[in-house]
Amino acid sequence: MILSTTSASLVALMLTAGQLPRDQFDDVMPPSHYIHSYPGVVQTLEVPVDALQIFCATAPRKRALPVAACSVAGDGQCTILIRPADDFVEPMRAAVLLHELAHCLGWPATHPKE
Ligand SMILES: [Zn+2]
Repeated sequence: MILSTTSASLVALMLTAGQLPRDQFDDVMPPSHYIHSYPGVVQTLEVPVDALQIFCATAPRKRALPVAACSVAGDGQCTILIRPADDFVEPMRAAVLLHELAHCLGWPATHPKE
């Protein structure tokens, strides 16, 4: 299912960022300067977990956990591939979307803390 992410939902996501307990989501959350709107089109595509492991095969991961999401950016648009919403307990999905949006904005795949 393709879910276009509107600017309104991105704004809601940004507001969520301030409410996430940093210590609980420290592994997932990007540095704060990567939390802002994307200057282009963002699409969110929900993908079943098995297919996501194939699409996101090159995504770096911690431990041996399955990939939760990955993103591809270029030409003024970014596509975020993410497991179906039912696979997440909120606010983890919001944290994962912010993580991927940060990659859209140039946060390196090595996840530097600054
Ligand atoms: Zn990442």
